[in-house]
Amino acid sequence: MRGRLAILANTPDIELWPGGILRARGNRDARALARARAVLRRKRDGALLAADLPEGLLPLVPRLAGEPGIDAALEALEHPPHRATRDGIDAVPGLPPTRLPTLLAALGIDGEAYAARTGLALEPEPAWLAPAGHDRYRRALWLRVDAARAWRTLVAAAARDGITLEAVSGYRSHDYQAGIIERKLARGLELDDILADNAAPGWSEHHSGRAVDISAPGEPSAEESFEATPAFAWLQANAGAIGFTMSYPRANPHGIVYEPWHWRFGGTARDD
Ligand SMILES: [Zn+2]
Repeated sequence: MRGRLAILANTPDIELWPGGILRARGNRDARALARARAVLRRKRDGALLAADLPEGLLPLVPRLAGEPGIDAALEALEHPPHRATRDGIDAVPGLPPTRLPTLLAALGIDGEAYAARTGLALEPEPAWLAPAGHDRYRRALWLRVDAARAWRTLVAAAARDGITLEAVSGYRSHDYQAGIIERKLARGLELDDILADNAAPGWSEHHSGRAVDISAPGEPSAEESFEATPAFAWLQANAGAIGFTMSYPRANPHGIVYEPWHWRFGGTARDD
């Protein structure tokens, strides 16, 4: 008998979440989700597709069998990826970015030109992510296993010095990033302006599961004013020893705005 999934298992079209985390929009499925071992979630729009219950798979949408990517998701349910790999950094494979061309085309982004212009590396999504606690909104925070461990170390070290670090955002999928840009386009913003603040889907460090946006209690999320906080001063003095680097300093070569809140565990993707 399978126990509750302890990780976020990732497949190209569908994520597998541990049960008990995701909430149903209505009450109808709430009890099933609460006792599910795993919940299948469509990446494109976040729709909940099925709950894996002890007595079997409960579809939450009509025609589950026709859902794109369902076979890969059921395979991952049967053989969760972390059971097949060692718990090492290099053992977390990246997923082939099969949906990325579609996402870029829908947004009118030329991926090759974008990569050439920014010098950013394509960031595949990991095949699985480890729990790293919660963000400031009490949502589950997911990171690659090595980054999750380092994040907990960072938070504990800061706490010993009287500093509270709050995560604003950790792992996010290519689909999620596309949704952010789509909503800004719908509000009438220009694509080039949006891309100064948000990496194109596929090129955000958040896809790698190694980047965390950090804030402190009472501070806004993702604002340059973070650089004036004791939390930022602490990070500048101590985060490097734990393996975290600020990715986008002032006048960075990628054309991304100064982001004192965005820190990455490990070297750049280009020297991995
Ligand atoms: Zn960030």
